[in-house]
Amino acid sequence: MREVADRYAIAITPHVASMIVRDESNDPIARQYVPSPAELDTQPAEQADPIGDGAHSPVEGVVHRYPDRVLLKLVNVCAVYCRFCFRREMVGPSKKALSAAAYRAALDYIRARPAIWEVILTGGDPLMVSPRRLHQVMTDLAAIPHVKIVRIHTRLPAVDPKRVNAKLIDAMRANGVTTWLALHANHPREFTDATRDACAAIVDAGIPMVSQSVLLRGVNDDPATLEALMRAFVECRIKPYYLHHGDLAPGTAHLRTTLAEGQTLMQSLRGRISGLCQPEYVLDIPGGYGKSPVGPAYLSTEEGGLRYRVRDYCGDLHVYPPDMEREM
Ligand SMILES: *Cc1c(COP(=O)(O)O)cnc(C)c1O
Ligand code: SF4
Repeated sequence: MREVADRYAIAITPHVASMIVRDESNDPIARQYVPSPAELDTQPAEQADPIGDGAHSPVEGVVHRYPDRVLLKLVNVCAVYCRFCFRREMVGPSKKALSAAAYRAALDYIRARPAIWEVILTGGDPLMVSPRRLHQVMTDLAAIPHVKIVRIHTRLPAVDPKRVNAKLIDAMRANGVTTWLALHANHPREFTDATRDACAAIVDAGIPMVSQSVLLRGVNDDPATLEALMRAFVECRIKPYYLHHGDLAPGTAHLRTTLAEGQTLMQSLRGRISGLCQPEYVLDIPGGYGKSPVGPAYLSTEEGGLRYRVRDYCGDLHVYPPDMEREM
């Protein structure tokens, strides 16, 4: 563990520790946070910056890949450090937060670009800042007329739900901007009563929530677990948004599935859960080219493109438009 700790940050909250079943050798909660010697194994395809943040960072703390939205990274600390983190080379307790000057420069960058409609607070975990600071950031962004949406990407309600108190929730909102919150959770057991209460308080405050999960080998790479996870989100009024294919972060091969396995799982989810519960399976293309849906294809063409074949939720194929003679 010491060798892993020399390379990557480690942290587990008391709340997460209480969720771990200690005598289970492959507990899906432990697997997400407890370091493994397998992390010392870096594959040739793995990269320090697997999704190419660096290629699109015009000023410190800002990643601007799509015209209408930017990431704003306030801090590089998290309440926990996920063993599969795609920014594992950039986050940790020793990594500096954005300085006051860099923060002002980031705001200037956003203010000068009217195409930026949405600002995504990420990091690190943006909810690690104090409520006072968070509210200042929300107010500063709300004062920029073209910024209409602030999306907060966080793991806090799942890993330290007590921190998500009324003060922090109040700080998430500011007049002139709409707040959305994306919760990162990967296993149904992360939905403890305390986490469900924290999510209810956020949604009751008028902040819509979406989900973000990473497909992880030995954690959630089976249909029953994914089904229970997506149902737990929807029960908490959280719309499943993304299921991320594991990024090529260094030392994470043991936690990654293949794309084919992910597609099979997505196909099985179609047959098991309602449309409300369906996430989109996405791959962040290495090199900074953005996210693309990589779910199974339901539509293919036949007869030189004149007709289609559509796969139904059971996996059976149908011709479209239907061949009326053959049907009768
Ligand atoms: C993931 C990401 C976003 C957000 O993408 P959505 O598809 O809008 O959720 C925006 N900018 C960057 C750089 C990203 O990596
Ligand atoms: S909370 Fe997010 S940024 Fe922090 S370690 Fe986990 S995946 Fe990485």
